[in-house]
Formats: sequence, structure tokens, C-alpha cells
Amino acid sequence: MGRKFTKIDEEFICENCGEKIEKLGYTCRDHCNHCLYSKHVDINPGDREETCHGLLEPIMVELDSKKGYVIVYRCQKCGAIRKNKAADDDNMDLIIKLTARN
Ligand SMILES: [Zn+2]
Ligand SMILES: [Zn+2]
Repeated sequence: MGRKFTKIDEEFICENCGEKIEKLGYTCRDHCNHCLYSKHVDINPGDREETCHGLLEPIMVELDSKKGYVIVYRCQKCGAIRKNKAADDDNMDLIIKLTARN
């Protein structure tokens, strides 16, 4: 037990670029696959318990040997740093651009 993980996979409209984001299918969709922005809504992944609701801005991407691409976010409202695994259909050009930054 220990680690909380709730799977919520749902469609949403991205608050940064306005694109309609489809369900991901294999895991929970937690960010926009066009501009990579996410929202500060989780304390533990998928729990939607966070009350901040600020926009999470992708500031860089790390390449993890096990997880693959991991997007590092900073919340535009409270400044919290969050990390999310990139999805299969994410905007690869943007991921590569953000990877080159570190
Ligand atoms: Zn977007
Ligand atoms: Zn926040």
C-alpha cells in the first residue's frame, strides 16, 4: 500500500493552448500533448486533492534511463515543481527543445 495512485483518464480542454485533449487510454492523461502544459491539481498522482489549480508550465525535460522523458513543471501560481512522465503522443519537437535546455 503506501503509495497512492488513482487513475483518472479523461478528456479536457487545455487552458494554455485551447486544444481539446483526447483520452490517452493506457494511463491517465495528465498534461496537454500539444503544448505540454498541465494543471496543479494533484497532491499524489491523479488524486485531484490539490486546491492550487494553477497552470503548470513545462520548464525542462529530463531523459530518465528507466522512465524515458520526464517533463519538469513549475506552477505559475504557487511556484511548486512537479514532474510528469511524457506520453507516447506528446509533441516530440517541444520535448526535444526542452531537453536541450538543461
Ligand atoms: Zn495545450
Ligand atoms: Zn500551484
